[in-house]
Amino acid sequence: MTERLEPGEPNPTEVVAIDGPSGAGKSTVARQLAQRLGFAFLDTGAMYRAVTWHFLQCGSAPAECAAEPDGGQQRMRDALADARLDLRGGRLLLNGRDVTAHLRTREVESQVSAVSALSFVRAAMRDLQRGVAVAGPIVAEGRDMGSVVFPRARWKVFLDAAPSERARRRCQDFARQGRQVSENDVLEEILVRDRLDSTRSDAPLRQPADALYIDTTGLTTEVVVARLFAYVRPEADGLRQVAP
Ligand code: C5P
Repeated sequence: MTERLEPGEPNPTEVVAIDGPSGAGKSTVARQLAQRLGFAFLDTGAMYRAVTWHFLQCGSAPAECAAEPDGGQQRMRDALADARLDLRGGRLLLNGRDVTAHLRTREVESQVSAVSALSFVRAAMRDLQRGVAVAGPIVAEGRDMGSVVFPRARWKVFLDAAPSERARRRCQDFARQGRQVSENDVLEEILVRDRLDSTRSDAPLRQPADALYIDTTGLTTEVVVARLFAYVRPEADGLRQVAP
């Protein structure tokens, strides 16, 4: 387990830390679990997607500035300095604007793993994420929740599923947004993203040794949420609840 907490840093424990690869169903499950528990919900993938979208807007995405002598580092640092993420009230605002509708485009998906491999981006997101958990109990989902951001989380979960099932679910998500994408293309993209996310040097996707592992292949959302609720609930009673 990688511990990144420095002395004096916030060390929230009232956290359900859910990690896993792309398309394992983390967002849907985490959102519903948070609702049932009355905890706040934190979608950290959306944060990395919002930063990626912002970089694209500034013409500073990794692929756009890779040819610069420093690999675009300074341009991306400047762009990040201009991005104010606001996570209050369960909403994600970028410079005061709700950008949710822009986060699931293929442009964002093709760049997000490169953006999230940047250590200065991760450090900024980590501070924001810990800040949210200091305010009250949360369900947080991503790739490094249990391993790096909340190493002392009281509950850790690793959600997995067969790649073909993950591709099928992502295709269903796209279909709901009115986009027809071939399952093979989606599968290829998912596998590329998984490889980049698990081989980067800073906070790679890892299953924490103390996490509850659930293979969600063939399981409905309701079944997975019920299993997690049963895992968290006995210890969660009496925690200060926050508005969902
Ligand atoms: O979960 P989602 O697919 O929205 O995440 C998008 C991308 O954000 C991931 O592929 C990964 O590169 C990055 N991410 C991360 N750490 C997290 C959450 C997401 O690096 N905690």
